[in-house]
Parts: sequence; C-alpha cells; structure tokens
Amino acid sequence: IKVEPYRPQAFIDFTLQANVDAYQAALAKVRAELLGKHYPLVINGERVDTAEKLYSTNPCDTSEVVGSTAKATVEDAQRALDGAWVAWAEWKTWSMDARARILLKAAAILKRRRLEACALMTLEVGKNYAEADVEVAEGIDFLEYYAREAMKYSGFGAAETTWFDGEENGLMSIPLGVGVSISPWNFPYAIFVGMLAAPIVAGNCVIAKPAEDSGMIAGFVVDVLIEAGMPAGVLQFLPGVGEEVGEYLVQHAKTRFITFTGSRSVGLHINVAAAKVQPGQKWLKRVIMELGGKDALIVDETADLPNAVTAAVQGAFGFNGQKCSAMSRLVVVDSVYDEVVNAFVERTKALTIGTGEANCNVTAVVNQESFDKIGQYQQIGKGEATLLTGGETPGECGGKTGHYVQPTIFGDVPQDARIAQEEIFGPVVSVFRARDFQHALDLANSTEYGLTGGVCSRNRARLEQARAEFEVGNLYFNRKITGAIVGVQPFGGYNMSGTDSKAGGPEYLGNFLQFKAVTERF
Ligand code: NAD
Repeated sequence: IKVEPYRPQAFIDFTLQANVDAYQAALAKVRAELLGKHYPLVINGERVDTAEKLYSTNPCDTSEVVGSTAKATVEDAQRALDGAWVAWAEWKTWSMDARARILLKAAAILKRRRLEACALMTLEVGKNYAEADVEVAEGIDFLEYYAREAMKYSGFGAAETTWFDGEENGLMSIPLGVGVSISPWNFPYAIFVGMLAAPIVAGNCVIAKPAEDSGMIAGFVVDVLIEAGMPAGVLQFLPGVGEEVGEYLVQHAKTRFITFTGSRSVGLHINVAAAKVQPGQKWLKRVIMELGGKDALIVDETADLPNAVTAAVQGAFGFNGQKCSAMSRLVVVDSVYDEVVNAFVERTKALTIGTGEANCNVTAVVNQESFDKIGQYQQIGKGEATLLTGGETPGECGGKTGHYVQPTIFGDVPQDARIAQEEIFGPVVSVFRARDFQHALDLANSTEYGLTGGVCSRNRARLEQARAEFEVGNLYFNRKITGAIVGVQPFGGYNMSGTDSKAGGPEYLGNFLQFKAVTERF
C-alpha cells in the first residue's frame, strides 16, 4: 500500500469569515438532516433497535432533544460478543494493508464531512467551532496514523530481533481477539474513533460502547466506518448504560481486552472487575486505562507573563475545562503572583459565555450531573480558599436554559484542599502561591494524578529540572497544556491518570497485539 508520510490535519482558521459561514451552513444542514435522528445498535452488520432509547439533549438549550440511540441490553451485549468472535476468525487473517485501507478510506470520508461532524458535536455536547474542529481533526489523524503504524507489524519478523548464527529468528505479532472499548463523552468523536481503530487495524474485533451523553456522534462515525468497508461483526456498536452492558462485558469470560477512557472511579472499578477470573476464562484480560487529571501549569518570575496568562486561560477554559488535560491548577511563584493572577482573572472575566452554536468561549457543561457536581465544588471552594471570579451556576444564558456555570477561579488555595486534589471536570481553577520554583514543582506534583503539566519559564536549568522531575505523561513548556496532536505528542498519563498507553504514539498498537518469538535452527 502506498501512502505519503503521516502529517496531522491542519486546523480551520475561524478568524476568516468564510470559515465561520461554512460552519454555520453545516449547522443548518445538520439541523435539517440529523436533528431527531435515531441510531440503532449495529450487531453483525445489522441495525438492531431496542425497546428503550438513550436521548441526547443540547447542553446549551436543554429543551432541545438532539436525537437518540438504542439502549443495548445484556442480551444484545452477549450477541455482540459472540458475533465478534465469529467475525474474528476471518478478520485476523486479513493483511495489515487490507485492514489499514478501511481506516484510510474512513479518514477520506470524514475529511469530506468534517464540518458536519463538528456541527453535530456542537449540538450534542456544546463544543464551540474551534474545539469541535480540533477534535474532528484528531479523529482523522488517529485513522491516518494507526493505518500507517499497522504496516510496521506486516509479515513475519517485522519487529527487530538480533541476528544469531545458524538460526532464523523472528517476532510474530498476533491480535488478541475480541475486546470492548468504553469511551467518555468529552471527546466523543476522537477518543471514540481512536479507541476502536487501533485494536481493529491490529486485527482484533471491537465492541464499542460510547458514553450515554454522546451516542449520536459515535453513531455518525460508525456509519462512516461501515461505508468505508468495515466487515460485519468486526465493529459492533453498542450504545447503552455503562453500569449495565459495560459492566457485563468487562466481567465476561470471553472478553480478551478492555480499553477504557473515563473517570478514575469507574476505571478503578473496572480494573478490579477485569482482574477477577471468571469460570471458563483462559487469559489474563489486558486492560488499558486512561483516567482523570488534576493538571498544573507553573509560572515562575522569569516567564513571558502575558504568554503564560494566555496559556492559563486557554488550558483552563477550552471546552469549559471538560478535558482530562485541562489546567485545573495554576501554580505561581510569589514574586509575580499578583501580576499573573490579576491578569488571569481579568482575561477570564472577558470570556464570552453562551451556546456552542454562537461560538462562545465558554458554553454549557455536558449534563445535569456535571452541573450539580461543579456547583458543589464551587461551594466547597468558597469554604477552602478565596473566590476571585465566578462561583455561580446560573443555569441559563441569553434566554436559553442550559447547564451554564461561570468560569471560576480560587486564589491562595491550600495544597490539601479538596478543590486542590479532586478532579472537578469543569471551568474551576485553583491557584497556588509558591515560595520559589522548587516549591512550585512540589505543589504541582502533590496530587495522585499525573496526566499533563506545564512550565512557563525562561530559566533553562528549571526547565531541565521539570523535564526530569515533573510527574506527568505529557509535559509542555511555554504554552498551554491541552491539545496533544496525534503522532506529535503521544498522549497518556502516569499514576492514577492511567496506564500511560500513549494514544497516538508509536507503541500504541502494541497494546492490542501479543508477540510470539519463533526460532528455526537451520
Ligand atoms: P465516566 O467514567 O463516567 O464514563 C466513561 C465510560 O464508562 C462511559 O461510556 C460510561 O458509560 C462507562 N461506564 C460507567 N460505568 C461503567 C461500568 N461499571 N462498567 C463499564 N463501563 C462503565 O467518565 P465520563 O464522565 O464519560 O468522562 C469524563 C472522565 O474521563 C474524566 O475523569 C476525564 O478526565 C476522563 N478522560 C480521560 C482521558 C485520558 O486520556 N486520560 C481523556 C478524556 C477523558
């Protein structure tokens, strides 16, 4: 198969009016064609409907139902699992090239339908234009990147082994079998597609279980993959409730691997459930986990302060802080604390709040549960630290009822405060005053998470110290700490943030393969 070297997709420039117009045309098209659409399950290539449905509502206008998906039962999950094992018998014999072609074709279709996918996300989860576009680009990148990565494993002995006289040695790569991919709502397109494309191109069959709040965009992606030629049974689409069908598949003896992205609490529960060997189970389930974050940006007295403040605002409030990589902690060295924090607060107050459709900086958070949780943390924060801006959950904006919460900043937060340690997953930032750089680094490392982090500094020795000692999977200097690009910044965290599997990195497909070393003495 002939492909040009992988290059990430460029982002759309929404400072150009023509691109804004195109986005709004896509919103109108999606409103006309997809609003109210229902996505059934896909099992063994057939669309299957269920008695109950899962509804998606627009977070920015909760009176609007965007559409629905089927809601799988455990019987559906069982059929999906059985069917996938049947499909696997043939799928595992396909060449890497042949599998990769399906990903490349899906990427081509998604490039053509890029703004449509963006617009659907705007309606279903409330992303503004740039946030949706960056995500759609990432999903295309995953397909393009993993298709190329798969070629590394083509043929016997593709992986490097050392020559030994008198023998032929080689390392065969073998797919694992059937696994379940359980994804979150906050990157409902990119993470969903990445977590199924990697195991599938490596020769596995996948049951994809999207998050309850974002089943439509997942259904949109599944339709594209089927159009691109995904054989029946290789990709089973199983929207449903995590605690029901997710739990069932996690525990099942015939589940070979579980790839999960979501919260720490659900992840730890799955880790334990997957470790328990069920009757008839003949393998250790492979578990890949990407969990939460409590990510810190350090600003010292040598930093370009306006640049640091921009990094803080972008990292904290992009998609309302609903990113595992979001900057939820800002650690500022005492001598520049007031200057940085004042500017950060002023810039935050200037953010526009409103709908994703109106392309506001801050939109509504995804659902009532998040809205309530963020409101509770705002109250906890008022008892633990100094409120600098925000602190309210108005629940409406511009005449629309939605899950609107104010971007919120707390100052002089103690290291052991709950708002300093627990993932809030919304637009709430804790700011810490550090005595010096060493203290700043100690504060940054003082949570059990370790996903992203950053340092704004012009001091080379400090950057080198952070390079070695900052306990995070993704470290950024002198920029925002969100926005990892596939192939450029392989993504995944340390400690309670996950198994550091590095999605979009050169080792990622290895998570879904097992290797056999074969020796023939001549
Ligand atoms: P969540 O843990 O509530 O749900 C994630 C998925 O797990 C959903 O599909 C849900 O239905 C399913 N689920 C729930 N209970 C289950 C069970 N008992 N068994 C099997 N599946 C079950 O997370 P969320 O609210 O959808 O997403 C937000 C979380 O995801 C945040 O903590 C965020 O930090 C994290 N996240 C991490 C990364 C990363 O790469 N590290 C990326 C994005 C999001």
